[in-house]
Amino acid sequence: MLHIDKHRLVGDEVTFRGTPNIGGPLTPRYLMLHYTAGSSAESSVASLCTRKPSGNASAHLVLGRDGRIVQLAPFNVVTWHAGVSAWDGLTGLNQHSIGIEMDNAGVLDEIGGRCFTWFRKEIDTAEVQRAVHRHGGPQRPWHAYTGAQIERALELAELLVARYGLLDVIGHEDAAPGRKCDPGPAFPLAALRSRVTGRSDGLLEHRVVTASTLNIRRGPGADFEPVAAPLPRGTEVLVLEIGARWNRVEVAGPTDLEGWVANAFLGPVAAPRGREVAASAPEPAAAPRKSGRKPRH
Ligand SMILES: [Zn+2]
Repeated sequence: MLHIDKHRLVGDEVTFRGTPNIGGPLTPRYLMLHYTAGSSAESSVASLCTRKPSGNASAHLVLGRDGRIVQLAPFNVVTWHAGVSAWDGLTGLNQHSIGIEMDNAGVLDEIGGRCFTWFRKEIDTAEVQRAVHRHGGPQRPWHAYTGAQIERALELAELLVARYGLLDVIGHEDAAPGRKCDPGPAFPLAALRSRVTGRSDGLLEHRVVTASTLNIRRGPGADFEPVAAPLPRGTEVLVLEIGARWNRVEVAGPTDLEGWVANAFLGPVAAPRGREVAASAPEPAAAPRKSGRKPRH
């Protein structure tokens, strides 16, 4: 059983190796999951504990394929795992999240029916999962996570969410869509998330736009570009994912339009008439802030 003492993880197969790549104090709101795209947990730990002229990276935990955990910084200190990122109205997620790097090579290349990592190591077919990333694109081979890793990730997520009252468990791919695709489709993120937070992505709810127009964006925040023209009042949407301030929605009807809208401007389908929202403030926009950290993956 794992537990946390003075912001450090305590339990079997847990070690601590402090990284110099840390920021100031952290009050975590989210847990963010990553893959290392590396060759081993040891090499990733070494890399995340090194200062580099090309840009320093780190995370709170590295989770090996055998379930072993190395902690690199206490949970109340900022680490550098998210890069330019946004989630639910917040930007620069290093300042708001605990990061876990899972030892996994990521997307693989297929050559003559054999699968290789980007560093040219062949991966046995038993460790390959073919899937389409939820951001789209073709079906590709991905490095599978081990059962020990998935079990340990679930235990860590339950522990951290309970200890720090975290609002959600997200992937790097959620906070940096288009730039990042980790932890990727080989990791059961939706299942872990619904188990840990009690939210289910399977519960779809219809809502309507109550502002005169409402921007629909590529991600959960006013910094993300619109995916289409603003939705007019009365547009019916299907809520796919619920955040504290932003929802991921699909526009009802024959289109494939999907994006993020501010929750405050969605109402029940049978909303009484006359309930309007000032069109001059179509979104509760957070002040744009950019993280200067070089992204790692
Ligand atoms: Zn990442």
